[in-house]
Amino acid sequence: MRILVVDDDPSSLMLAQTFVEELGHSCVTATDGDMAWRLFIEYQPEVLVSDRDMPGLNGVQLCRAIRKAARDSYTYIILVTSAGEHGDQLSGMEAGADDYLTKPLDPLALETRLLAARRVTSLHEQLAKYRTELAVLARTDPLTKLRNRLTVADDLDLLHRRSQRYGRSYSLALFDIDAFKPYNDTYGHQAGDEALRRVAQALDRRARQGDTVYRYGGEEFLVVLPEQSPPAALNAVERLRAGVELLGIPHAGSPSGLLTISGGVSSYIAGRQVSGHELLREADLALYRAKATAPNIVVGCDPIGVSAAGLSTSAEYLAPDPEDLSGSLASGTLAPADTDGGPSLAASLAGRAGLVRPEEAREQVAAEHHADEHGCVHAAIVTPSGGPGT
Ligand SMILES: [Mg+2]
Repeated sequence: MRILVVDDDPSSLMLAQTFVEELGHSCVTATDGDMAWRLFIEYQPEVLVSDRDMPGLNGVQLCRAIRKAARDSYTYIILVTSAGEHGDQLSGMEAGADDYLTKPLDPLALETRLLAARRVTSLHEQLAKYRTELAVLARTDPLTKLRNRLTVADDLDLLHRRSQRYGRSYSLALFDIDAFKPYNDTYGHQAGDEALRRVAQALDRRARQGDTVYRYGGEEFLVVLPEQSPPAALNAVERLRAGVELLGIPHAGSPSGLLTISGGVSSYIAGRQVSGHELLREADLALYRAKATAPNIVVGCDPIGVSAAGLSTSAEYLAPDPEDLSGSLASGTLAPADTDGGPSLAASLAGRAGLVRPEEAREQVAAEHHADEHGCVHAAIVTPSGGPGT
């Protein structure tokens, strides 16, 4: 074990060091409490053998400081007091010492204390290991091994603040497997699980390094794309969509005969007055717009249109400039949203009233009307130009 010994009396210190090293432990020594504190921080010992009375921090103060310092590992503390000073022993234990010894130090007594110390510190190590494993498990979706939605809020908050501070863009993409319930009904839930795993793998494999893919809900996936401008994000998201189509998973209930996904994209760009949570809702609305239009498409919510119009509501759907986007889409063509024939956003929202809170629905309906007054179409729709391989 790594053992820190501190004593202001040179002969006591040397004696303790000799015993510790003879028992096969590595030993670092300090001659006062302040030095011991510095070495504790630097050396992270498993055991501290500390004199009670010494210059700087005394043994009791040192115990207290160590117990107050929040650390993952545990340091077993043995306080060394003068014989007969029962009050000192008690105050030391109260301050966080695990055990005490009296001077002069007896090698056998020290050895027994160190055996107990090893037992206690290894228990703490195991506990720390289980805690770490549990924390990972709690964040991991057992079926797909992707991160689950538990950490989305924290991760997004961190990314949002960093992007705001440094004036960088990022994008969010929400995907949903098209006609997944019919897939389960036709092929069974085992096949459904396997499809979820394969879609998850495809998204994870095709996402850039630095992007994070989450299983967001039953058949919903969220991809967080840091440092992505809106056109580049649409491009990347379109590639993810195409990647799932390319898996070639048969789906009799799908128009293409294959299992496909639809996606909604939202973006943060420097200066936008929008929160991460609102961006998530924009992606959700874009996804909903996609689902209401056709399967196997990606819909982007244009952040430039939103900020240029000076709008602060998050539910605006304005078309990006097709000139900007068409050039950046490697495998898709840009089609204007169908403002007449397609289901209106309000109607779509009414269709899933159970999922949308009334105040959100009201805002979205208001937003739709606002967009209409300005003569804007609601969504940029990226459609695949021709099935797998395109
Ligand atoms: Mg002393």
